[in-house]
Parts: sequence; structure tokens; C-alpha cells
Amino acid sequence: MDRETSASLAGFTLNPMTGVDDEALARWVGAVLPDVVDSSPTLDGIVAQLRAVIAHDHPEWRPRVGALMTRLTPDSMGDHLGDPEVRWFAALVGQIGVARPDVWPSIGWTRSLAPVPEGSDLPDEVTACVIDRRALLGHYDAIVIGSGAGGGVAAQELTQAGRNVLVIERGGMPPTAELSSDLLRSARPDGGLGALAGLPILGSPHADGGDAGRARRGDPTRARWSIGAFGLGGGTRVYGAQAWRFAPQDFALASTYGVPDGSSLVDWPVAYEDLEPYYAHAEFEWGVAGAEGVGIHEGHRSGPYPLPPLPRTRPSGPLREGATVLGWNTQCVPMLVNSEPYRGRPACVRCAQCIGFACPVGAKAGSQNTSLWRAARTSRMSIILDARVIELSTDTHGRVTGALVRGMDSDGRWERRIDADEFVLGAGAIETARLLLTSRSAAAPHGLGNDHDQVGRHLQGRLGVEAVGIFEEAINDNLGPGPAIATLDFRHDNEGLAGGAVLANEHVPTAASALAALQQAELVPLAGPSVLRSLARLLPRLQRIAGYGHPMPMADARVTLNPGATDAWGAPVVRVVRRSHAQDERLRAALGERAADWLSAAGAHHVATMRAPLVEPRTAGTARMGHDPAASVVDPRGRVWGHPNVIVVDTSVFPTTGGVDPDLTTVANAYRVLDGLDEGLDGF
Ligand SMILES: Cc1cc2nc3c(=O)[nH]c(=O)nc-3n(C[C@H](O)[C@H](O)[C@H](O)COP(=O)(O)OP(=O)(O)OC[C@H]3O[C@@H](n4cnc5c(N)ncnc54)[C@H](O)[C@@H]3O)c2cc1C
Ligand code: SF4
Repeated sequence: MDRETSASLAGFTLNPMTGVDDEALARWVGAVLPDVVDSSPTLDGIVAQLRAVIAHDHPEWRPRVGALMTRLTPDSMGDHLGDPEVRWFAALVGQIGVARPDVWPSIGWTRSLAPVPEGSDLPDEVTACVIDRRALLGHYDAIVIGSGAGGGVAAQELTQAGRNVLVIERGGMPPTAELSSDLLRSARPDGGLGALAGLPILGSPHADGGDAGRARRGDPTRARWSIGAFGLGGGTRVYGAQAWRFAPQDFALASTYGVPDGSSLVDWPVAYEDLEPYYAHAEFEWGVAGAEGVGIHEGHRSGPYPLPPLPRTRPSGPLREGATVLGWNTQCVPMLVNSEPYRGRPACVRCAQCIGFACPVGAKAGSQNTSLWRAARTSRMSIILDARVIELSTDTHGRVTGALVRGMDSDGRWERRIDADEFVLGAGAIETARLLLTSRSAAAPHGLGNDHDQVGRHLQGRLGVEAVGIFEEAINDNLGPGPAIATLDFRHDNEGLAGGAVLANEHVPTAASALAALQQAELVPLAGPSVLRSLARLLPRLQRIAGYGHPMPMADARVTLNPGATDAWGAPVVRVVRRSHAQDERLRAALGERAADWLSAAGAHHVATMRAPLVEPRTAGTARMGHDPAASVVDPRGRVWGHPNVIVVDTSVFPTTGGVDPDLTTVANAYRVLDGLDEGLDGF
């Protein structure tokens, strides 16, 4: 804290951890949420949490908080609500306040309407596979890097084909209770705090394109980085579990629409018909609840969903009527959630915090309780956690032979080289690109699969579209997971645009996510007596429609290595350059309008489209799959060109992103590329 700040707080006792006085913090909290001032346990609790956030989560915020308190007093806050720093701090205090259980009764939110039985989303058979670094062997038949959607399927297929497999996972394995309770540090952070299932904020630097290549301390909550989860199960442990298939046109965007100037749009090297049997297999293996719709853009299904849809929700009624008025078709949202007990896992108990959290009973399908569970039952899988593959080594013939692994355990840092015959990359689109780029050798001087400078290019996020509607009567029933009704009419054939999106209603909100959305829509103030009162009135009347359009791939949107900079693991830091094509904003605006129209037709008296980031942080495309080795990184079977014993199974191989959530396609594609393993990865 600078001298000026200290002086202005003279007379108070500065907290050594935060450099900010607790009494001053309490006055600011009182100004943001005056309703809590009368309850000293609540006020003290918020101050303590704020103090912990400044001391531990974001020590770099200390001078920011100090500077704010120097410049302004809590009493003058109301006159400065346009000040970005005041807005930031007030929003943070609001998030911390409404994440507290003792505040929920005043806003009418509850974690679950029905009691939640004790359960777990971590099967014992899987946790029993976790080994200590001392138990690591020098050689395995196969190494799988990353335990998310693609990595989990790879572990299942390889072990079931008789391989001894080591799964190397960069993150840990937080217990279910921990990952299903902290509203502030969920994987969908609204308060700018790190996620329990995410990259640590400190020690995960990255450079971004706007920064002239300089490495900056990474913040996983920033749109430029990744909201993917890092830990056993990857994103699938805490995701929202929407289970969309791509439409047939999604595999052929370039031939359907032509290639817009400035884009690097291509077709997938496989068609919907090639993937259909694997979609069906993925739905059966992981468990998808749904019902066939009438979507005009949908592909043929070879069979019904394995589970009936989840029960109808309160918002479905008005939204269906609204769609009928507009002449739109609707259908239920397929979910990777058990609508009834399925293959050893219980049915959903419909708690109010699905997306961003681990499922308290294990009804949500993730890699850890489906594919990894099946792999565990072969007794041929070992898992090492908190261990990161830094680079892969290659022999003179281009065959990848070993992985350099660095880890952290109770004895501190460790490093090992582990050899294998086959390698599967499922580390997510940014880290898989980093790993390919950093694995240089005489046989691959520019990195694996990078002879033609393709690794890391065509980076795509999701094009987020969202509208918020407020209804006269209560519409939100607080029964999870929430997404229940969708229109598929705008997936394609949107005039003048390439692609489109599925639009669906959103997950039931947590108190914290509702506050963030309503404040962004300027329906709830940032500070003052009406924060909690407005939230209490609007939360039951709130409904959100969201979708994720097709972003246009561009060759210079890319992941590269940042020369000379290494992170806390000693790994080269990545530089992430995003680009957005002119059609992206047009598509987002058109879809945002449709989302708003739908809410209005359903009876919302107030509708606002949200200022979602243009390019959302979910990532794909950096190890493009294709027929031409000069224009792609992996062949149509996912094998890295020139290194056929390395296969990529995550979203980095997607040439385009489908206008829907990617998980089911990731899982189906992984089953496809790993089908026929008997002869080995390079022996198809
Ligand atoms: C909050 C949230 C909500 C979502 N909602 C949906 C949804 O409703 N529907 C949907 O389809 N998708 C959703 N997703 C996205 C979905 O989870 C991802 O698309 C999917 O998990 C991607 O799978 P993947 O195999 O590419 O990688 P991931 O699942 O991201 O797994 C990658 C794993 O690799 C590990 N790793 C990374 N680098 C290394 C390394 N060097 N060494 C070892 N391990 C490494 C990571 O720790 C991570 O566990 C959501 C994601 C989040 C976070
Ligand atoms: S709503 Fe989601 S988290 Fe809650 S019980 Fe159902 S599947 Fe699990």
C-alpha cells in the first residue's frame, strides 16, 4: 500500500494480510448492502470473506482496494456508481454477500427444495486408481494426458482393449462436498475469483495478443484464457451437461455457405453419418436424457435416447406458448443427467446448482463416473494427479517415446520421464497446442504435427448469446438442472449469415449468478438498500435464454509460445491471440434478437440482451483435423501427422464448433477415433 493510502486510513488498524482496515471494509460493505448491517454475524462474515479474498485469492487487489478507499468514502459511493472501480468493488461485495447461506432466506433462494441425500460423484473404483509418484512405472502401454471428456473415453477404450494405461492429470480431485458448495468459487465465476476446479490464479501466467507478447499473470476468469476445469474429470465434472449432437450442416459449413473473406472456414473431414453411430454409443455410455424433436436441421437418429427426458419445468409452459405465437418449433433439451437411475448411478434430485458444481449425488454424467469408471473396472488404469506433461520426446523416426512429467506432492516438486508406446492428448485446446508446440526434436523441429505451421491456429471460442427476461409472476421454480426447452430453428438458414445456434433456457440460477445477470442487465442496482430487495423480487421472475453461435475460424487467431517466459511449472508460457470475424457480431446480434423475441412472446414484460464477451473462453480448433497434412494437424482418425502413435481427442481437433455445446461431440469423436484399437493406434 502506498504512503497516501496509509495516511488516509490513519487512525485505523491496518490488517497485515490485506493492508486494508477491517472497520473501513465493514463501512464499505454496509454501503453496498445496508440490509446486512443490522445482523453483525452476517456483516462480520462478509468482511471476513472479503478479507480472505484480498489476502489469499487476489493479493494483487490490495492496492486497488486501498486506492479506492483513499479516493472515496463509503458515504459518497452512491454519487460515483459510474466509476468502474466502484462498480467492480460493489459487484464483488454483492457476490460475496449473496453467496452466504445466512443471506438466502432474505432473497428466497435455497440450494435445493428437497433434501439432498448423501452421495458422491467420485466412484471408489476410480479414486482407488490414483497412485503416488513413487508407484509410477517407467513404461506403460499408453499414456493419456488429461482426464476430461476426450481423455476419459481414451482411458476406457485403451484399457478395455487390454492396454496398461497411465492417465496424467494436471489438476487434483477435490471432494464432491467441496466442489458442490462454494458459490463464489464455482467453475462459472461471476465475482472474478478463481474456480476450485480451475487453474490457480497465481502461477498460471499467459500472454495475450493485446499485450505485445509480454507474459502477464494469468487469471482464468478472464475471457481470453479458459473456463475449462482442471482436475479429475476435466470440464465434465462441473459442466452444465447439455448434450447436443451437431447438425449435419455443422460438419460442412464451408460447402454449405462458402468461405467468408478473411476466415479459414473448412468442412470437417467426416460427416454426420460417420459420427452418428458414435453419438448413439456416447449417449448410451454416458447416459443422456432426452426426446427426439422436430428440428428441421437435425440429423437422422439410429435409436431413441437411453433415458426419458427430465420432468417438465415451470418455465417450459410459457416459453412453449411464446414459441407457438412466433411460429417456432421447440423440443426438450437433451441432458447428460439421469432422469432415472441408470447404469449404477442415481437419478437427479433437482438441486439448484448444477452448472459450475460437482453433482452431490453423482447423477450428472462426467468422465470420472462413466468412462474413467469403466476403465477403472478393468484394473488396467493408474491415475497420477497434480502432474503435468511438459513435453513429449520423439525418436529419430518421428515416433513419440516418452513424456516429461512435472508434479507436486507433499514432498514438493518432482520430475520424471515416463515412456509409452501410445500417447493420447486430451488436455484441452490451449494446452494440447502448447504441448505439441513445445515438443521439438530433430524429427519435429517446429513441434509435433507442425511442419506446416498449423498447430495453434484457427482458435475458436463460443459466440455467447444471452437475453434476460422478467415476468410478472414467478416463473423460476428453482428445480435443477434447468435447461428444459429449446428451439433449433435458428441453427442454420439465417439470412446472410453462416451458421447459427440452438437457443435454450438457462440453468436455474444460483443467488450469485442471478445477481450478476440482473446487475449486468441494470435491473438490480450495485449498491444500496434495494440490492437484496430487488433481487428477492426478481429472482423468481427471472428467465434467461442462451445459445452459442458458430464463431468464424481465422488462421491468425492462435496459440503460440511466448519466447523466454516460463510459468510456475517451468513450462513455456502460451500466448493466446483471439480474433473475431465481422460475421461474429452480426450473428450474435441476430441471435440475441431472437432470444429477446422469445422471452417477450412468452410474456416477459422486461427483456434485455446481455453484453456477453464476443468470443467466449471455451476453446477449440487448435489442432485441426483434416485430410491434407499441409492444412491440418491431425488426420481424420485423430493421429498427429508424422507421429501416428499420438492421437488427439479433445476439442482442439474440431475444425468448427457446431453452434452448440461441444461435449457430446468430443465424446462421440473420441469413441470414433479409438474404434478398432486391436492393431494399435498407428495400425488402423
Ligand atoms: C462451467 C462449465 C460448463 C460447461 N457446460 C457444458 C455443457 O452444458 N455442455 C457441453 O457440451 N459442454 C459444456 N462445457 C464444456 C465441456 O466441459 C468441455 O467441452 C469438455 O469437457 C471438453 O473436453 P476436453 O476433452 O476437450 O477437455 P477437458 O474436459 O477440458 O479436460 C482437459 C483436462 O486436461 C488436463 N490437462 C491440461 N493440461 C494438461 C497437461 N499438460 N498434463 C496433464 N493434464 C493436463 C486438465 O486439467 C483437464 O482436466 C462446460 C464447461 C464448463 C467449465
Ligand atoms: S441438478 Fe445437476 S447437480 Fe443437482 S442433482 Fe441434478 S444433476 Fe446433480
